[in-house]
Amino acid sequence: MGEKPLSANKPMSAPSPNSGELTSWDLLEDLPVAVYTCNKEGYITSYNKAAVKLWGKTPEPQIDKWYVNWEIFNPDGTPLLPDETPAGRVLKYGKPIKQQEILIKRPDGSISNILSNPKPRFNEKGELTGAANTLIDITEQKNAEAKQGMLASIIESSEDAIVSKDLNGIITSWNHAAQRLFGYTEDEIIGKHITILIPEDRYDEEEVIISKIRANERIEHFETIRKTKSGEEIQISLTISPIRNRANKVIGASKIIRDIGRQKKSEERLQQYAERLEILNSIGQVISAELDIQSILQKVTDATTQLCGAQFGAFFHNLVNEQGESYTLFTLSGAPREAFEKFGMPRNTAVFHPTFSGEGTVRVDDITKDPRYGKNAPHFGKPKGHLPVISYLAVPVRGKSGEVIGGLFFGHEQPARFTKEHEHLVLAVAAQAAVALDNAKLYENIKELNEKKDEFIGLASHELKTPVTSLKGYLQIIARNLSPDDKNKVLANRALEQVGKLTTLISDLLDVTKIQTGKLPFTYANFDVIKLINDLKEILQQTGPSHQLILNLPARELIIHADSQRIEQVIINLVTNAIKYSPKADKVIIEAVVTDNKLRVSVQDFGIGIQPDQLERIFSRFYRVENLASHMSGLGIGLYISQEIINRHQGRLWVESIYGAGSTFYFEIPINTNDRHDA
Ligand code: ADP
Repeated sequence: MGEKPLSANKPMSAPSPNSGELTSWDLLEDLPVAVYTCNKEGYITSYNKAAVKLWGKTPEPQIDKWYVNWEIFNPDGTPLLPDETPAGRVLKYGKPIKQQEILIKRPDGSISNILSNPKPRFNEKGELTGAANTLIDITEQKNAEAKQGMLASIIESSEDAIVSKDLNGIITSWNHAAQRLFGYTEDEIIGKHITILIPEDRYDEEEVIISKIRANERIEHFETIRKTKSGEEIQISLTISPIRNRANKVIGASKIIRDIGRQKKSEERLQQYAERLEILNSIGQVISAELDIQSILQKVTDATTQLCGAQFGAFFHNLVNEQGESYTLFTLSGAPREAFEKFGMPRNTAVFHPTFSGEGTVRVDDITKDPRYGKNAPHFGKPKGHLPVISYLAVPVRGKSGEVIGGLFFGHEQPARFTKEHEHLVLAVAAQAAVALDNAKLYENIKELNEKKDEFIGLASHELKTPVTSLKGYLQIIARNLSPDDKNKVLANRALEQVGKLTTLISDLLDVTKIQTGKLPFTYANFDVIKLINDLKEILQQTGPSHQLILNLPARELIIHADSQRIEQVIINLVTNAIKYSPKADKVIIEAVVTDNKLRVSVQDFGIGIQPDQLERIFSRFYRVENLASHMSGLGIGLYISQEIINRHQGRLWVESIYGAGSTFYFEIPINTNDRHDA
């Protein structure tokens, strides 16, 4: 049996409020839900106000059927034929339908979501007479749901972690990005206190945040540190807004959490890159200018240790000495020398082998877990008291011809500290270091050869001195014993002259050796330097008659305290040079002036002159300007000795010259010095 009819003969109009008898319709009339009935053909027979409102029209008797002028669709938008609509099916099958959702489209195009609840109606005989239907408009609710869904999916798909909590700090929502960032799933964390994400030393931040939220304030881009499930601390930026209920009361807070670690890291990397470039540059400059092996090693060790962020760094450099024995120099950074010396050189152990044999770079995150580690007696692993190395990086350093000349080693007590990038940086420096070490080695070889040469000159001139002195003595006796008209007398005197030159040469060479060993002797005394120059002129004029020696001297005596023989040696050297290097000229001017308690002597010639780039070098030992004519012979030591003599007198020697026009050599020495002592 069906339900009781609502009203047997309800007129096709809204029931009148003053109809006397209170029918079911009177009760339904003011319901906010649309209600109507129809006959078994579907024509509307009665309805309430809400139904008229929903239809948007008053139905016309015998014309309007159950859904008046609507088009009907399933919620997914597929159209429904009239007898497939809920009401149609009720009339067709006589069975009630509950809460079926349909979409309706009105003639004006507006669409609503409707819940339809049609029920069949029967007469006493049980025959179907029609249906009664309630229609509930759920459009608003549906829209709100859709909006909610949209918001939820925005939150879910956000790249930023979005989390909400109540005023007690209890987490109430948690999106996907929050799970990605912190590692907790929604199930694990909802209901937990927010401090689960905060490092202990930052708990007070939460108090500040909550008090701001209570005061209805927003917090924007607050950079701080939070803790993930695995305990890792991450850098984040927080934006927190209060959540208010309908009554505008703050009931919690929503947080947008942005992981700024990556951004920070890339900023740091950029900064690091610039710093490293600078270090690389400066290492290059410093070591290429350095010729001392030990300090190259130290600089490279310090710089590479800093570059790869190691706690300890070492550079082992294999060398071969003159006797062909190999030995190793090493420098350390970040650790005291004893830390290594105690355990001897590391070249033979399995860990170090690949580096010294040149197999290649070794980079290990945890050397204590490496199979090569701990193979060597007697320490089997890290010897007691050894540096606490876990991360390990070793790079072979190769010389010009590819042979391994050493290795750079780095350690850190924490695992996985060295990256591929560190490896590349160290390799770059190792290549620079190899070149610098090669240069330093060459320089040392030259230095050694130079020392040998000095040794030889000293020895040879010393050995020459005695026979030449005897030779001179014999020649003097021979010359003396020859009568003036003997034609051999001239020859003997010429021989004596040449032996004299030889004596000067030998004593100059001996002087050079003495300067080298710091043993050039000086004997200081008072003498008249003007007289000395005048006397010298006589002698020099005889040996160099090609040039006129012009003197320009004060017309008085000038007593100075100096080594007269050495000063004489300087003047002779300058005048002989002036004559030698001005073959086409015919005069040399020698001048002496006193200025500022100093004696200044100059020797001017009008000869070949000196090119500007040679002006400094001509004072170096054995240096002669190249391409001098063959008659301008010499050893290149006169000016070197002269400079030493003048320096020892606290004076200075210099030259001014115009290439092709002549040179003027000057020396200047203080006149009254009490601190000159014999040496
Ligand atoms: P030497 O004259 O034996 O070569 P010196 O030490 O006296 O050695 O001089 C060094 C070099 O300086 C000479 O070889 C020459 O090239 C240059 N020099 C010295 N004096 C003069 C000068 N008066 N004019 C031009 N060049 C000079």
